[in-house]
Amino acid sequence: MVKQALQFSHELLKQSVEKGDIVVDATAGNGNDTLLLANLVGETGHVLAFDIQEQAIQNTRHRLQEHHIEHATLIHDSHSQLDRHLKTHMHKNIGGAIFNLGYLPGSDKSVITMPESTIPAIQQLLENLREGKLIVLVVYYGHQGGDKEKEELLEMVKQLDQKEFSVLEYSFINQKNNPPFLLAIEKRKAR
Ligand code: SAM
Repeated sequence: MVKQALQFSHELLKQSVEKGDIVVDATAGNGNDTLLLANLVGETGHVLAFDIQEQAIQNTRHRLQEHHIEHATLIHDSHSQLDRHLKTHMHKNIGGAIFNLGYLPGSDKSVITMPESTIPAIQQLLENLREGKLIVLVVYYGHQGGDKEKEELLEMVKQLDQKEFSVLEYSFINQKNNPPFLLAIEKRKAR
């Protein structure tokens, strides 16, 4: 069966994230992706989850508590500040990352991800990603401001050097109402 973008993002993470990895949820929101990542890395791994909204941090904290998960750090800050939050042993050692772009479902629709922070966050993650690992983005763009982010993001990822990165776009081309699409960036192994 062909998977929706969100389901496919989870599939890719399941294939690429390993026990013991340090991984990043760049947009924690209601904590669904943070929970998935925490389960994938296990207790020997760690999740860093970012969100600029206090409500999202609280929702994610509750979600993790329900599942008795302690190996995650919730960071109430923009993902563009990633570098500031990486401890020395995490540098160049990120095992994967996910972004869910757009607004927090069930909350203020005017607080959206913006290319001015999304793009620097991706650049910092690419710098710190281990070879063979993935950054996955689920791009919701049907809201006001979403188109601008989509265009700038596509422009940026298309420029990534194919010798260093493989970039996948996965989308349904016959669906109405701007369905989300997926981008996956793999840091290629040096030959
Ligand atoms: N992954 C989430 C989940 O599983 O529920 C949904 C994420 S929601 C679509 C997008 C989230 O990105 C919102 O909670 C919003 O507050 C957050 N956000 C927006 N700009 C951000 C930024 N610069 N840094 C971190 N989070 C941001």
